[in-house]
Amino acid sequence: MIDVVAWLDRLGLENLGSKWWRRRLFRCLACGAVLRKGPNAYSCGCGKSYPVLANVPLLLPDVTITPAPAPLTEAETTQVIAAFGIKDERSTRQRIAAIFARTYQFADSFLEAENNYLLQRLAINREARPSVEALAVPGSGQAVFAVIRHYVPATLVCGAASSHNVRIRNTGTEPLLRRARDGWSLALRMADLDADPTPLPVTVLPGREITLPVRLLAPAAPGNYELSVVLLHPDGRVLPASQRFPITVQPTVKRPYKVLDPIRGPLPADYDADHMIGIRLVERAVNLARARRGLEIASSSSPATCNLGCLTVNVDIDVQTMQVADVVFEKRGYSNVIFACCDALHLPFADATFDFVSTFAALHHFADPVSVLREAVRVVKPGGFVAIMCEPTGHEFEKPHPQIVEVLEHGVNEQIFSLDEYARMFHTVGLRPTSSQLDDDSLKVILRR
Ligand SMILES: [Zn+2]
Repeated sequence: MIDVVAWLDRLGLENLGSKWWRRRLFRCLACGAVLRKGPNAYSCGCGKSYPVLANVPLLLPDVTITPAPAPLTEAETTQVIAAFGIKDERSTRQRIAAIFARTYQFADSFLEAENNYLLQRLAINREARPSVEALAVPGSGQAVFAVIRHYVPATLVCGAASSHNVRIRNTGTEPLLRRARDGWSLALRMADLDADPTPLPVTVLPGREITLPVRLLAPAAPGNYELSVVLLHPDGRVLPASQRFPITVQPTVKRPYKVLDPIRGPLPADYDADHMIGIRLVERAVNLARARRGLEIASSSSPATCNLGCLTVNVDIDVQTMQVADVVFEKRGYSNVIFACCDALHLPFADATFDFVSTFAALHHFADPVSVLREAVRVVKPGGFVAIMCEPTGHEFEKPHPQIVEVLEHGVNEQIFSLDEYARMFHTVGLRPTSSQLDDDSLKVILRR
């Protein structure tokens, strides 16, 4: 297909190219056809229609929209406007009030935890949810769990100690109580060898999932083994997952991927300073590649790539945050920033749409980061780049940070991967790191497809 945008750009008609590109940006999630923009919705020839609410398209399969139980008070509206540092005008107040006149529900508990969260983040605590601990009432059922995925390589070195993330799901009707409440610890077992187990940092309710790093001891003798995942109780109970995984143990193992060997950067002063380091790295890559159009995944209300001189499409699941962000960026005079609500696992864009894809401190929030990376690879142009910025690294076994525990209890997904796990994820989706940097524990990698 002719690249109309590149052709228009070459003729010096960037504005026209940009307009044409924007008009054909979104694709139908059901059939992949280009969506047509109407006044209140994007529609498709196949009959599907996607609402545009408060100027933000909702390109999501399953969302229930309901009137909010109570409108924002005048004081709360002032609070929201002040939090975003925009001018308090009548039209702005009306738009903010309209945004919070609706709420959005997702069937998926993870998406739901990430959504309708803005008021709580602004400490307007009108929709406080019951805590996991309050909901965790043990009955008389039996605890049951399943392994959703694990990051243990298929081959291990004889006698080696290592650690790997394991994601489990409570598939029973009983809460899996956290260790501090006389509950469980997670262990990996091979040939009856258990390394130190990892205590559950929060109680896992029925239907909920958690990812935890777990230590593993490989048997000393080479051979084919089975890996099992077990929950251990201080009273001696052992609860195994039904799945077993084949693992080969060898005297030496050659990995098919290059290990990540990041440049060690300075210790960033704080979260914002760390983000700024990431933004500068992406800016350099944007300039080198002469990138014009980027996608930022899980940008929330503060897209990091908004000042890099390119068009930036920002996607996130949190509907109200994106709607407020649209108001904020319009008020600040940005014309290069587009906001849309969609699931990073099902991006409403054609293959090879963007010159680059970036995410800032977000990949580790996804239950299945490999699938997110795969989508990123799909929508980035050949020769384009993927920027994975500000990802926490390292394994913490005993005492996760209290803030992490707090968001875990809210239902937000938190997990911390090792450099080796990242290297394998990138390799799995065909991404090759071209530069990587580690500032304290914050990993920043530019990758090519
Ligand atoms: Zn369609």
